[in-house]
Amino acid sequence: MKFSDIPGKTQEKEYLIEAVEKDQIPHALLISEKTGGGGLALCLAFISYLFCTDRSTDESCGECSACQKTKKLIHPDLHFAFPVIKKDNKKREDTTSSDFLNEFRELILDTPHAGISDWLRKINAEDKAPNINTTECNRMIKTLGLKTFESEYKVQIIWQAHFLGKEGNRLLKLIEEPPENTIIILITNQIKSILNTILSRCQLLRVPVFSDDEIMNYLCQRYQMEQVQAQQLAFLSNGDMSRADELAENHNVGYSEELLNWLRACYQFGQKPSILISWVDHYSKYSKNMQRSFLEYSLYFFREYYQYLFLGTDQLRLSEEEKETVQKMSKIIDVEKLEILQEGVNQLLINIRRNANIKIATMDVSISMFHALKAKSLAKSIINY
Ligand SMILES: [Zn+2]
Repeated sequence: MKFSDIPGKTQEKEYLIEAVEKDQIPHALLISEKTGGGGLALCLAFISYLFCTDRSTDESCGECSACQKTKKLIHPDLHFAFPVIKKDNKKREDTTSSDFLNEFRELILDTPHAGISDWLRKINAEDKAPNINTTECNRMIKTLGLKTFESEYKVQIIWQAHFLGKEGNRLLKLIEEPPENTIIILITNQIKSILNTILSRCQLLRVPVFSDDEIMNYLCQRYQMEQVQAQQLAFLSNGDMSRADELAENHNVGYSEELLNWLRACYQFGQKPSILISWVDHYSKYSKNMQRSFLEYSLYFFREYYQYLFLGTDQLRLSEEEKETVQKMSKIIDVEKLEILQEGVNQLLINIRRNANIKIATMDVSISMFHALKAKSLAKSIINY
């Protein structure tokens, strides 16, 4: 990871570069971010810069032996701790990050902006309660007590540091007076859950969320996506780059077009039921992730549509194409109908989480949408009356 791989965050990059250049690296740094905010990526770019033997004024070379190892997350002076669950053949209290290091490397190399939910999915622990335990803390203290191997510094990253809970107290001495040439970097998206005793011993670096434009450009580059689509996903991810990645990976069809197809199919159900039946069939074949992403998009779109009904197009976080759709839809869908559509989508999301038969559930919801779309709106009937 290099600084130039991360969109934006100019001030934070400058701060980290200057710390190295002026030899003022804090021995304990706490990076506070929102989910998918790029904290770990920034931290890894900083470490590449620090370890690099041929760096320029503002970037690591990417080529030297140190850079090669940091890039693969296998540099011997780079240590990781992160929340884990019990490993198959081990007791929970004996399991540490080292038992899951391969999985962690795989995830971060693939999606450097991954968040805790990506991690739990990766290790099949979505319904478990992970943490950073006593053994892990003792291991950190022991490892950091050893000499460095190849670099001048050794670095301990504690990712999702709020999972330390009260165990954090075990690290107070380490954080306050770390062994020589040791840097400890804690990364969290829940700073309120970090013990005050730890907070007060760390230098704090707050990382802002990614802007819509930063996410859009990143998506265009990484996924060779068209700008209109990338902008749609950028709005939908709300500054969370891991969400943007997830959406992009599940995105082989434009969501707005899909939503329009769905609403049209519902609207025509009375005359041409086969259109809706085949839409439902097609939708139920998507992966669960994609089904969910599409519904989340629909809710997002409806929220914007709601705004439009009251405020017009000025403030909308929608593409030009979507704005046109909104204007056309307003002839058919008023607030009351919109609320029924939203309710239907929410209901479907619940059904997906509960592993219901998605085909039946989607058909049910679609038929209720058909009735809503076809009903005379209350507002209009009052006028007619
Ligand atoms: Zn290098």
